[in-house]
Amino acid sequence: MSDKPVVTRIAPSPTGAMHIGTARTALFNWLYARHTGGKFLLRIEDTDRERSTAEAVQVIFDGLAWLGLEADETPVFQAARADRHARAVEEMLSRGSAYRDYMTPDELEAERTAARAEGRVVRSPWRNASPNDAPDRPFVVRLKAPVLGETVIDDQVKGRVVFHNKDLDDLILLRTDGTPTYNLAVVADDHEMGVTHVIRGDDHLNNAARQTLIYEGLGWTPPIWAHLPLIHGPDGTKLSKRHGAQAVSEFADMGYLPEAMRNYLAKLGWGHGDDEIFSDEQAVGWFDIKDVVGAPARLDWAKLNHLNNHYIREADPARLAGLVTAIHRSRDFPLHDDHLAVLTQVIPFVRDGAKTTLELADATVFALHRRPLPFTDKARELASNPEFLDRLRRLREDLAAAPAWNVPTLEGVNRAFAEREGVGLGKIGPGLRAALSGGAPAPDLAGALVSLGKDESLARLDEALSLGG
Ligand code: GLU
Repeated sequence: MSDKPVVTRIAPSPTGAMHIGTARTALFNWLYARHTGGKFLLRIEDTDRERSTAEAVQVIFDGLAWLGLEADETPVFQAARADRHARAVEEMLSRGSAYRDYMTPDELEAERTAARAEGRVVRSPWRNASPNDAPDRPFVVRLKAPVLGETVIDDQVKGRVVFHNKDLDDLILLRTDGTPTYNLAVVADDHEMGVTHVIRGDDHLNNAARQTLIYEGLGWTPPIWAHLPLIHGPDGTKLSKRHGAQAVSEFADMGYLPEAMRNYLAKLGWGHGDDEIFSDEQAVGWFDIKDVVGAPARLDWAKLNHLNNHYIREADPARLAGLVTAIHRSRDFPLHDDHLAVLTQVIPFVRDGAKTTLELADATVFALHRRPLPFTDKARELASNPEFLDRLRRLREDLAAAPAWNVPTLEGVNRAFAEREGVGLGKIGPGLRAALSGGAPAPDLAGALVSLGKDESLARLDEALSLGG
């Protein structure tokens, strides 16, 4: 087993939003496959025909694409493989590890009652019947599970988990209508997809015991198991709506970058020493499934915001300009033709304080406004103060004559101007900023001037000068 190339997979059910826990499971499977030079696969578990929808399948594709965790091969759809599942059951019947159970619904009910009273699991009398006794009536196919001994899961995260076989019933593999059941389908698919490591949420730990018995019944080697603890909310309870967000799309809509999410999710249950910020390459190099911790991880918004701010500060301004454009569009903010150039120019000056791309978008509004600027009352008052306007007229001349349009030069121009006028910069700053931004949040003076560019800055100052009449 150990020298086979690693194959991991995620197997989400397409029944709604893509939960952040599924994203973390995908990430750990992806990291482990990359770390070992193996493959990461995707299987859509769409056998619940009533709950599975095409939209939810698309949500999974979109979520994985956004996260940058695309599978290495075309996805497998479980429902399309029902004939293979049935073939696996035939194989088990011929091996004697499964049997046809002809109990009627009434008989099953009576057995359930008896089993409950005796404190044991349900056992069918057909378990040991001869196939020659088969009546002509509907049947299910059940696993002929061992009743003695133990089934041991050597879990990479949970350690050694022991199940007593007497507590595991003969689970149904094929229903009366001939459709395969969940655990059977998972085993048949994982085997045929060549999955070597099943890394998934620990809500499936019990299934691992049942699936191990199916593997044994088929004479197949079970995969290596790794069951990840759930993600909890900041208060330690299971993550739910009231914790703010739980779907991947919600995090995207709230302005988190996929690389920040990857870094953050990697830290939910795994880590490399005290490293808080690391690249994908580093995570791939370091990641080992054995280092995942068994205790539930808690979502920590402050940490996520800190990471997102880091990646916003690192990102290519042109890429951020595209993201910010989409945000402005979704808010129906009027954009002019050269908004991308304006945003690319302004983003480096405003991104340091932005925790999300939504905040980044807010911080760019001042630069996107067209003239005449929509002045706030306070800004209009500051910018039209006669004493200030008098100064502004002179400052405009100095700025127009600036030998270069960059932060150090313009800081120098402003400082020299204040000195010559015999006032502190504090006397000029608020009015100048109001004139440049109309009162919308804007960076420091030289930053505002540079991010707007010379022509736009001077045009805005002229507009303010005209406020004085
Ligand atoms: N379809 C299962 C789920 O969405 C996952 C099964 C598995 O990973 O084995 O929870």
